[in-house]
Amino acid sequence: MLLRHKAIRLGYLLLTFDDGPGRRLTPVILQLLAEYKVKATFFLLGGNITGREEIVRQIAAQGHEICSHGYDHLNYWYVSPIRALCDIKRGWQSIDDALNEKRKKYPFRPPYGKLNLVCMIYLIVRRVPIIYWSIVSGDAWPSSKIDSQRAGLLTEKAGGGIVLFHDFDRSDDSVDGQVVASIRSVLEVAENAGMNFATISELLKARGQN
Ligand SMILES: [Zn+2]
Repeated sequence: MLLRHKAIRLGYLLLTFDDGPGRRLTPVILQLLAEYKVKATFFLLGGNITGREEIVRQIAAQGHEICSHGYDHLNYWYVSPIRALCDIKRGWQSIDDALNEKRKKYPFRPPYGKLNLVCMIYLIVRRVPIIYWSIVSGDAWPSSKIDSQRAGLLTEKAGGGIVLFHDFDRSDDSVDGQVVASIRSVLEVAENAGMNFATISELLKARGQN
């Protein structure tokens, strides 16, 4: 059973953040999550970690889960398998360096959701969970297209799942407010409905009747 189906079946809600850390946005999101006492999962982009190691440590220190989204945000369908594999490993290495870990295999979310066969086999053999999503918040769309209520409405309808947000810094900082409002819409819906929040590891460990 795919993990996102498991989340929906067990009624778990997972907030996931891709492409960060962002210098501006990630600390704001951490504060928001603390306000609601919710733990989330961050799929960090190695290329965004340099100079922001402290933010990575802060994410971990606040009890959130750290996963990987590769290093360069490559579309693995359009680069050679070797280049894609190197990108996966470099992404892990950047997280290791920031957290002072060694050769950890962080659960992986492919950029654009695109994985080639070589990488897929590699990750499966290494028993690295490959994580997708079930609810697109739309927070990375052009600002005129962002609907801050969308994620909340979709979460309410689905009753659980894996919500995709992005915590990289937008070039236009006025978008930050829209992103935060979008996250808040989900937090409010979940709180009102009494949904159970989980991180990726918690969902992987959760046992459900199939
Ligand atoms: Zn991404």
